[in-house]
Amino acid sequence: MAESEIRILLVEDDRDDYVLTQGLLDKCSDSQYELLWEATYGAGLEALRSNRIDVCLIDYKIGGRTGLEFIAEASHDRSAVPMILLTGARDRSIDIAATRVGAADFLEKASLTPELLERSLRYAMRHAEDLVALEQARASLAEANDQLETKVQQRTKELLEANEALRFEITERKRAEQLLRHSGLHDPLTELPNRELFVDRVNQSVGRTTRSSDKTFAIMVVNLDRFRVVNDGLGHRAGNEVLSLISCRLQDAVRPGDTVARLGGDEFGVLIEDIAAAESARQCAQRLQKLLEQPILIDAQRVYAMFSAGIAVSTLGYCSAESMLQDARTAMANAKRRGKGRIEVFDISMRSNTAGLLELESDLRRATAQGDEFELHYQPVMDLRQGRVAGFEALLRWRHPERGLLGPGEFLQIAEESRLIVPIGRWVLKEAVRQLRSWQKRSPANDALFMSVNVSRYQLDDDDLIEDVRSTLEETGVKPGDLKLEITESVLMIDPDKTTAVMERLNEIGVCLSIDDFGTGYSNLSYLRQFPFQVLKIDRSFVRAMALDEEDFRVVQAINTLAVVLGMEVVAEGAETAQEVECLRSLDCQFVQGYYFSPPLAPDKVAKMLDDSRDRGSPTLFLDNSLARAG
Ligand code: C2E
Ligand code: MG
Ligand code: MG
Repeated sequence: MAESEIRILLVEDDRDDYVLTQGLLDKCSDSQYELLWEATYGAGLEALRSNRIDVCLIDYKIGGRTGLEFIAEASHDRSAVPMILLTGARDRSIDIAATRVGAADFLEKASLTPELLERSLRYAMRHAEDLVALEQARASLAEANDQLETKVQQRTKELLEANEALRFEITERKRAEQLLRHSGLHDPLTELPNRELFVDRVNQSVGRTTRSSDKTFAIMVVNLDRFRVVNDGLGHRAGNEVLSLISCRLQDAVRPGDTVARLGGDEFGVLIEDIAAAESARQCAQRLQKLLEQPILIDAQRVYAMFSAGIAVSTLGYCSAESMLQDARTAMANAKRRGKGRIEVFDISMRSNTAGLLELESDLRRATAQGDEFELHYQPVMDLRQGRVAGFEALLRWRHPERGLLGPGEFLQIAEESRLIVPIGRWVLKEAVRQLRSWQKRSPANDALFMSVNVSRYQLDDDDLIEDVRSTLEETGVKPGDLKLEITESVLMIDPDKTTAVMERLNEIGVCLSIDDFGTGYSNLSYLRQFPFQVLKIDRSFVRAMALDEEDFRVVQAINTLAVVLGMEVVAEGAETAQEVECLRSLDCQFVQGYYFSPPLAPDKVAKMLDDSRDRGSPTLFLDNSLARAG
């Protein structure tokens, strides 16, 4: 601020004092002062409000009011103008009161000199400047405080949020860890212990037996039979559902201390603790099989879960879970080879069998290439209505150079797995049709004989099948209707569309198609309409059951009726007893095949049988089961 511009307001009701003050100011040497004068309290306040005033001089007495009130009111107006109180007499109490209301200085009129006034003015203004600076500092401090406060609040909020997030993260992480720990040792689909946990538990049991030999336990490897059929036929979702249900059933069936685990795919492991003998483990397996026999309903389809099981018992002195598992697996593979739904307990003699299996496959390869070790046996199919042999089913045999005559149960699985069944099946087809033709030619009575040939699923995939059938019929001169190709029920689910297409082409040639083993797979009556079959073969297990159980009898009756309504022939398989044959007769089931009449026969036996009946001049090839008894 330029000193010449200093504007002073004097609030003084005495004009003489104004003149005096002006006189004093005029005498001040350094500064240029402009003095404004107001004679009343109100005008003084007004002047203070509406002008730029640098410093204010107030008389202690203005009209009826005091300078102290003036200062108080002005500072109430937030005026930053420094106030100097002027009094007539030195009075200490006024001095104190003036300081209290915020006066910058206190001057006694009588002793005022220009120097004193000037000094007081200078200090007052300086003091005001300090006050302004202080006020500004206060304001910025307050602002900083405010900012700090908001920042603190914000930080607190952020901190709370971060804390919350952290807490969430910690629980999440804990949960994830738990899940990881669980899923690391459990199968996600069935929630059963997985292979790792199973091995661990078996190892613990192995450890216990090495410590105390009177503790016997067993492990069982359970492998579902034909699970692929469910998966391929009904889809993975259904397959998973079946697996989950089976795992529940297995778990419900074992004792609390035992472990059921999923070892992978359609394979489960069961650890059976504290058993008396190997037999107990077998009984346990049988109990599980019984439980699984209850059909599972998936998408209105009844699925029958059968399993093969291999058992290893701790009495063989295992040192590790792995070797025990391996033996249980070997036993399971043995069970599978012998057919479905079997249970085998491992014994030492099985150890060499795995090697034996590989050997068998290479033998089969050799036999297929050479083609002189296979034979066909023929089982007569009886026509109950006419009391005669209506035809034969060709059944494959392998005359193994060392092992002797082998039935399909002993090598068919290997033949299928190695796909050797395709060339073998081709040979079966040609040989069976050739044989039929030669028998048909023996006598006019044989002219109506038919031949059934089993066809593997891999042959259905073979592009040459249709041409093989066509050319075989053409070369031999066998009427297409005399050849019946049998397709096992369980094959139908694998690729229904493709299978239907192949079947239709076979039908076009005029060949009959049989649905084989009906009732063993995932029996579905809709197959009878869905696929172009002309013959339905009721499985042996049904034939056996119907003679024992009224309800099964009615099931077979219903199947028979339905097949007849659909224009199909019905063949009952595996009739062994007179009672079974009687049951079938009472149902008016036309065709029957089984040991009751005859087992599968070598071709020369069939030829002899045909010739005998020709010689007897009888169109009836069999009336009773004489051959069955003889065979
Ligand atoms: P499948 O086609 O159902 O044949 C009937 C099976 O039941 C035959 O067993 C037959 O010997 C047996 N059987 C017949 N009557 C009775 C009976 O009264 N009681 C008992 N317990 N069994 C009886 P086999 O010859 O061992 O054949 C087993 C299966 O092997 C056949 O079942 C068929 O699915 C398959 N198979 C046989 N030959 C061939 C073949 O050339 N090609 C293909 N792909 N499969 C074949
Ligand atoms: Mg068959
Ligand atoms: Mg069959």
